[in-house]
Amino acid sequence: MAKKGARELVGMICPTCKAQNYVTERNKVNMDTKGKGKLELKKWCQKCKKISLHKETGKLK
Ligand SMILES: [Zn+2]
Repeated sequence: MAKKGARELVGMICPTCKAQNYVTERNKVNMDTKGKGKLELKKWCQKCKKISLHKETGKLK
């Protein structure tokens, strides 16, 4: 049986241009213990041509 709910794919979007530039796996268990709801990662945005603080968007199916 597949593990349920441990990991899920989420997209990372640039806050400036709203482009979804990255897809990452988020570990629900880890996130819960840290008490943080949203992932934030500094990533290069090809549209903005700069590094911006990408934020997690909804789950990808
Ligand atoms: Zn951007």
